[in-house]
Amino acid sequence: MARIGLVAHDDKKDELVAWALANRDRLSRHELWATGTTGGRVADGARLALTRLKSGPLGGDAQLGAMIAEGRLDALVFFVDPLTAQPHDVDIKALTRLATLYDTLFAVNRATADAVLAAL
Ligand code: PGA
Repeated sequence: MARIGLVAHDDKKDELVAWALANRDRLSRHELWATGTTGGRVADGARLALTRLKSGPLGGDAQLGAMIAEGRLDALVFFVDPLTAQPHDVDIKALTRLATLYDTLFAVNRATADAVLAAL
């Protein structure tokens, strides 16, 4: 069982819910953590049990970053919106930096999320 973090920017939340629903059986075998709004959408839309952290702009990305730094997260699926500026850009940069630094399995879109899930 792996510990997977789930995050999606607002314009990518529908896509993450669709991906989670399509991979529901596989995902249900793992321990899932998510930023607040993403977690609510995935829990409802894909009927998956998960732990909801704070909303991203209120510290949820930072919480996932701390989990990575403490060795408590194995993979991160973060559907990034490359076309919209985010108010919490510094937190997003910190999260992606820590995922890179700690050599965490890290997916930023559906294609890489499929590859990460297959690898787990
Ligand atoms: P949210 O946070 O799931 O609470 O919307 C995601 C994000 O960091 O934008």
